[in-house]
Amino acid sequence: MEQKAFDIVVVGAGPGGMCAAIAAADAGASVVVLEALDQIGGNAVWSTGYLVFCNYDMQDERGLKDSEEHFMNDARAEVARQQELYGIVWDEALTRLYAKGMAATYRFLRRYGVTFERLIERPLQHTVHRMAKLDDTFALRPAFERAFAERNIPVVYKTRARRLLSDQGRVTGVRAANTDGVETDYIARRGVVLATGGYQANAKIRRRYQPEHLANTPYLGVETCRGDGHLMGQSMGGDLINMTMVQPLVMVASLFVEDVIAVNLAGERFHDEAGPYDDRVHALLAQSERKAFYIFDDATFNAKKHLVNEMPGELHSADTLAELAAKMGCPAGTLEKTVATWNAMLASDATRDPLFGRVVMPSGRKGITAGPFHAARMVLGVNFPAGGFRTTLSMAVVDVHGDPVSGLYAAGDTVGGVNPCLGLGGIHISSAMTLGFVAGGAAARQETGSVHALPESGDLPATRAKQKIAIVHLPQERAEPAR
Ligand SMILES: Cc1cc2nc3c(=O)[nH]c(=O)nc-3n(C[C@H](O)[C@H](O)[C@H](O)COP(=O)(O)OP(=O)(O)OC[C@H]3O[C@@H](n4cnc5c(N)ncnc54)[C@H](O)[C@@H]3O)c2cc1C
Repeated sequence: MEQKAFDIVVVGAGPGGMCAAIAAADAGASVVVLEALDQIGGNAVWSTGYLVFCNYDMQDERGLKDSEEHFMNDARAEVARQQELYGIVWDEALTRLYAKGMAATYRFLRRYGVTFERLIERPLQHTVHRMAKLDDTFALRPAFERAFAERNIPVVYKTRARRLLSDQGRVTGVRAANTDGVETDYIARRGVVLATGGYQANAKIRRRYQPEHLANTPYLGVETCRGDGHLMGQSMGGDLINMTMVQPLVMVASLFVEDVIAVNLAGERFHDEAGPYDDRVHALLAQSERKAFYIFDDATFNAKKHLVNEMPGELHSADTLAELAAKMGCPAGTLEKTVATWNAMLASDATRDPLFGRVVMPSGRKGITAGPFHAARMVLGVNFPAGGFRTTLSMAVVDVHGDPVSGLYAAGDTVGGVNPCLGLGGIHISSAMTLGFVAGGAAARQETGSVHALPESGDLPATRAKQKIAIVHLPQERAEPAR
């Protein structure tokens, strides 16, 4: 078996792993990154590209006042909402560490030429506008390639870490195999950072934590998020939290939702299409036959074809709304009236949709006007799970007995503590990066940090949503193969 030795071995080159590698190199360590795919970037390059930051120039330019405390209040309210639905353990101290470091992450990205288009408004979740949209998610790749080149960080592509190596309870490296099956031991003199993303592409793992009918729902990200890091960390006794929180989503890109309305079999709108993720799921499940469609015109179809193509449900198209209604199985007159009402609202100066309180409008307030018209079936699936390791504030993995695992760190979706507030939107990539920097620096300095207590049962204050959300038992739907 060939052996190669470095100070730090980072497993996975998504946003968490990339930032961990950079911070470790900046702290003077020699670093190698193992990546199962043939490119860096992980799910971040395929994502919608919404990133949350607080106290940064895009907010300043709009005169918006934000603070770490304000973000924490929004996070706390979101966790209270999620406690109605899942058994969760929220690491408030870790979330605060993320909040403190967000602005520095933004400045790092800007320094490497990453640009943002605009602030996205999600007032029900972020009570101050703080979610920025990347101009181009693929621009993350050249930015991080440059950061790696400047620090001589090698990436070993098409190489999947399979096992942790250990000696008397201390993690000492990683055994990995390339696509030809050739195995190499990557020795880590100071530490290993697990940054392998989530377990959403692994139906076997999902089945342990999700009901059967949900464990098979589709996922649209990279196929290598198979929970390898979760399993490897478990082999060292790592304490996994929030594993059952695999939030069902309506499979649709946020960028696409801006331009569409959702209509049920009665031909009527039934919810805020851009509202909180779980509200959308519950709204869909409450419809007759649990069936509904996103309606849009040909201009949107042509402008966002790639987003339409990635939706897993059936697509109907017709020259007129009446013909489309026939294909959907809803009354033509009602569909025409619903679209006309939406278009009239957009043509007015209303900033809030009077029916469902929607505030996210199409860019330029473009209506659904010119045929052909399209209807894409709304389908449930998953983008990201919440479960991952409990860690210290130095991102050292904590074991089931409450002690740090020597030599083992985690970043990104392999960490569980921040994820209960995922319904805020935009927290995954920026927290993976911000806490990834912490993980890499701490690993290079061999700091484990001390273990802090986490609440075991929810005592968070009731929120408006606590009264609103009802537990919905999801239907036994036709099983979709997990990708
Ligand atoms: C469709 C979609 C849209 C999204 N939109 C947003 C958004 O707008 N905003 C947001 O904040 N989040 C979004 N997310 C979530 C976000 O992309 C992820 O949460 C984030 O990328 C996680 O970062 P990570 O570093 O943990 O891992 P990932 O980005 O998941 O990357 C993990 C990397 O590890 C590699 N890997 C896995 N196992 C191994 C192994 N054994 N050996 C070597 N390499 C391995 C993988 O190939 C991959 O490159 C979205 C996700 C999806 C799927």
